[in-house]
Amino acid sequence: MSVLTDLIYGGSNAVASLTENAVKDAIAKYGEEQKVAMPDTAYFLPTIYAATGVKVGKLGDLSACIGVLKSLITNKEDLGEALNAGLATAVGAEIIEALKYVENAEPYAAESGIGFVPDPIIRSLGVPLVTGDIPGVAVVLGKAEDAADVVNIVKDYQSKGIMTFLIGDVIEQCTEGGVKVGLDFRVVPLGHDVTAVIHVVTVAIRAALIFGNVTPGDLQGLLAYTKERVPAFVNTFGALNEVVVSAGAGAIALGFPVVADVDLGENQVPGALESVTDHTMTVKKSLELRNIKIKVKELPIPVAFASAFEGEVIRKGDMQIEFSSHKQPTCEVVQTREDSEIEDHKITIVGNDLDQLDAGQTYALATFVEVAGAKMQSDFESVIERKIHAWFNYMEGVMHTGQRNQIRVRVNKEAFEKGLRLTHFAEVLYAMIMDEFDIVVDKCQITIITDTAKVQELLDNTAMPAYAARDQRLESLTDESVDVFYTCTLCQSFAPSHCCVVTPERLGLCGAVSWLDAKATKELTPAGPCQPISKEGCEDPVKGIYPDVNKTVKEATQGALSKVTLYSIMEDPMTSCGCFECICGIEPFSKGVIIANREYAGMTPLGMTFGELASMTGGGVQTPGFMGHGRHFIASKKFMSAEGGFERIVWMPKELKDDVAERLNKSAKEKYNIDNFCDMIADETIATDEETLMAFLTEKEHPVLGLEPIM
Ligand code: SF4
Ligand code: ZN
Repeated sequence: MSVLTDLIYGGSNAVASLTENAVKDAIAKYGEEQKVAMPDTAYFLPTIYAATGVKVGKLGDLSACIGVLKSLITNKEDLGEALNAGLATAVGAEIIEALKYVENAEPYAAESGIGFVPDPIIRSLGVPLVTGDIPGVAVVLGKAEDAADVVNIVKDYQSKGIMTFLIGDVIEQCTEGGVKVGLDFRVVPLGHDVTAVIHVVTVAIRAALIFGNVTPGDLQGLLAYTKERVPAFVNTFGALNEVVVSAGAGAIALGFPVVADVDLGENQVPGALESVTDHTMTVKKSLELRNIKIKVKELPIPVAFASAFEGEVIRKGDMQIEFSSHKQPTCEVVQTREDSEIEDHKITIVGNDLDQLDAGQTYALATFVEVAGAKMQSDFESVIERKIHAWFNYMEGVMHTGQRNQIRVRVNKEAFEKGLRLTHFAEVLYAMIMDEFDIVVDKCQITIITDTAKVQELLDNTAMPAYAARDQRLESLTDESVDVFYTCTLCQSFAPSHCCVVTPERLGLCGAVSWLDAKATKELTPAGPCQPISKEGCEDPVKGIYPDVNKTVKEATQGALSKVTLYSIMEDPMTSCGCFECICGIEPFSKGVIIANREYAGMTPLGMTFGELASMTGGGVQTPGFMGHGRHFIASKKFMSAEGGFERIVWMPKELKDDVAERLNKSAKEKYNIDNFCDMIADETIATDEETLMAFLTEKEHPVLGLEPIM
């Protein structure tokens, strides 16, 4: 037998007996009926569920799983068979990790790792993965001989936007080496035991269930999905023991190549298991193996610029300077100019730059971008303007929140000391606008103002009138007032049969693609994911039935879908990929619907969490009764208009309700002549069960009580 298969089987057999004993012990201690579950997932023990269809719910269910696990370890001298034994190790690791959650509801609370990754986080990764904002997923495991090697590699991944999961001593090596870790920084420590690697494996596996509509039990479909659609790879550090090797075999079976930093000699398997002993080559080799291409952005600034820094929070104690609308005038505005009016790449700073402002203080700030271009349209101004938020945040040491005249920008001391100044802010905007909007922007000129009086002047005379005009334009943008809708098929890389139909009143379900965004995307990438749909021959304006919607959706999904009714939750409803901001489901007692948002971790009156509700739809399949959608759609007069409209909403989490209240109350007044409609909608502080909900609706005389049942 080869050394490699020997090692794999050795590891798999060791894990199998460990698992078997652990299950026996747990049953002896807690009994067969003891509940076993991973936190905040609708997919049970995801590896077992996806591979076999078995829904593990209690300890007693695990005995059968041990049988399956053992059957995967054939000890046959064949690499394919040995890789299956690697899958057995994955199953064993999943069981061992699940038992930790039986022992303790928060087994990772005292660890420097997060353990199991909840479903909502996976859903939130959908859009950045499809846009290439997160170009790949790295699994970094073990202990580097020289900590600096792993630190440099992980920082390199971070600067490229790669999502990196850490397992083992590399966690401390990275944190002690100054790597910023946490979900927000895209470097996620999972745990120290090798078995914690399962927590990234189940991310890939749940992606197949959430987005790919892979049927639980279809092992071949699952393996094909992870191999083709999840751009993950593994880097191991330090000597490999048999358990690590067999876990690596599991990764390879899922299609994730493994790069080890020790010399494996003839045990290497080209394309699947390779040695790279020169650490300066690890990143390059890993990306090549997965064919991940990184768009390099060489910017003339003294700090790192990467999407991984988008979530960075800067506390008061760490800040050098703050610009905030709470204390000072601020604005960000993009305006279209005639070609002759502006000078390309002209950067002007009006007022003091960062080194001339007093540390720790709050100042005024205006970011004024003027663009010109033959194909520029005023509709694209807001699309560009909204990206200022992300681009400023990508600078390491800069935090940006808000938009328009309500913003806060903080620069930390570290970035300031590295030499970051406002000119660099302008350079970032210039470079990114010319990179992403080059088709419509020929010239771009940027002015950054910190002089309070001059900021106020720009705010009053230019920015506020521009916002007002834009709001008026948005207000007038209804599904009736435009000639075309757009497809969005970006998510097809994960959900191959899904297509969003984006209209002025129904934005993409991820919340990130409005009709204006789709229009700009069509202009910027003519053959791209957003294609126009004609509205001609509308068959039913209330339900939203259009012949060309059906025809286009059919083409865009290669025939997977043939009919979509835009405003119905029951009749040919729009499909979901899985990355929706909210999910709406029918609440039969009240004849209404409830909505839960991705951030809400609690229970809904349907007896299901967001994650459980969300698992009812996804993968591009039509599921009458459930609808994934963006937050913004809730106050739309088109929301479920086929079934009577948003008047049916009976429950939302408080945070979501507060967020949409102003717009929803306004729409309710206009459409139904109801005052303060949101006061009639329950939330988790009022009811999380049907009886309490019904009592509340009755007391408030919620209009849904007078409507016909939906079904
Ligand atoms: Fe994905 Fe739809 Fe958002 Fe496009 S609009 S990115 S297809 S969820
Ligand atoms: Zn999506």
